[in-house]
Amino acid sequence: MKILIINSGSSSVKYQLINTSTNNVLCKGLIEKIGEDESFVHHTKEKEIYENKEEIPDHSNAFKRMVTLLMDQKYGPIHSLNDIDAVGHRVVHGGEKYSESILINEDVINEIRKDSKLAPLHNPPNLKGILSSIEMMPDKPQVAVFDTSFHQTIPPHVYTYGLPYDFYKNYGIRKYGFHGTSHKYVAIKAAEFLNKPLENTNLITCHLGNGASITAIKEGRSYDTSMGFTPVEGLLMGTRSGDIDPAILIYLENDLNYSMPQINNIINKNSGLLGISGYSNDMRKIVKKSEEGDFRAKLAFDIFCYRVKKYIGAYMFAIGTVDAIVFTAGIGENCIPVRESSLKGLEEFGIIVDKNKNRNLEKGIITDISAFNSKIRILVIPTNEELMIAKETETIVKNLK
Ligand code: ADP
Repeated sequence: MKILIINSGSSSVKYQLINTSTNNVLCKGLIEKIGEDESFVHHTKEKEIYENKEEIPDHSNAFKRMVTLLMDQKYGPIHSLNDIDAVGHRVVHGGEKYSESILINEDVINEIRKDSKLAPLHNPPNLKGILSSIEMMPDKPQVAVFDTSFHQTIPPHVYTYGLPYDFYKNYGIRKYGFHGTSHKYVAIKAAEFLNKPLENTNLITCHLGNGASITAIKEGRSYDTSMGFTPVEGLLMGTRSGDIDPAILIYLENDLNYSMPQINNIINKNSGLLGISGYSNDMRKIVKKSEEGDFRAKLAFDIFCYRVKKYIGAYMFAIGTVDAIVFTAGIGENCIPVRESSLKGLEEFGIIVDKNKNRNLEKGIITDISAFNSKIRILVIPTNEELMIAKETETIVKNLK
């Protein structure tokens, strides 16, 4: 099947056309700065690259532009929209209703709209993408794949915060977790690699990118994850604080006169690697500066790795036995010192990195970096959220027939 994958953000639309029988990306593109003076269109089909500044006033026009590029003689892999079998949409928040991907209808649209209060920055632009896509391709099956749905198996004693219970019942305040599509994808790949049925596999999956989260997977299902009600909780991230004492925020407002919008900005945009180092949110730069002896860059690096280690430890106890620890995403797949440092000193617990394998792994393929005597396997697995969305969409569409 040829499945169009859409990731629609507030000012950008990312897309990929994937052939699910070969897993090949037929073309992909990014339309950004939508609604600004000069929008930017970037589209590639194999070696052909189209880049141009254009006027794209809104999402609906972005979709029209995408469709012309998909069918363009030089840059497009298809001749007509009839060549597309279905559209898969990344949707950030599916609330408590969706534990699986779902075919989009009026009810689903209303539910995504309702969940916008839980993800005000993400669900509204995701929905704009869905509506524009339906407008352009009204007769195609459209599927929503939620970042939260993989985590709907997390049990109540794990997802409930220690707040008055009514806050959960009345306002839906609980742990939801994010990056579910990536955690699920690498879990499936890890089980295949280990040659075990997923339902018998226990994993700790570390998605370490600009946003970062760790998931404890018990018998193939998410049991706990480090992000929470929002994607701010948990690990130190590029610009997000991760775990902090919530009373700090009250102190900032009451005693230091910061406004709520300022506080929101601080914990989301000015904290993490950037805030600690005062230099960059990019782990490559942090590692380099830290190796040059910069105190704050080293501190940022150390905090990042310490939290990864701490969550891995907590999740080992939470799920009892662990077949493998998986590293994925920009930092997880590429950053040798983060993997080495996060797992340092865990030999007693059966976690032993083979330093040579860790340093010399080939990019883009699944690699086991554990030493021969490591009880727990340590895997580096390239994530592919778009392919996962395509596969989920394909499964739903096949069941329609
Ligand atoms: P997101 O999708 O959340 O924006 P990515 O998964 O693309 O994030 O990861 C981005 C992070 O990966 C950045 O911090 C970047 O520095 C880091 N990264 C990418 N390549 C490397 C590398 N070779 N070494 C260290 N860090 C890397």
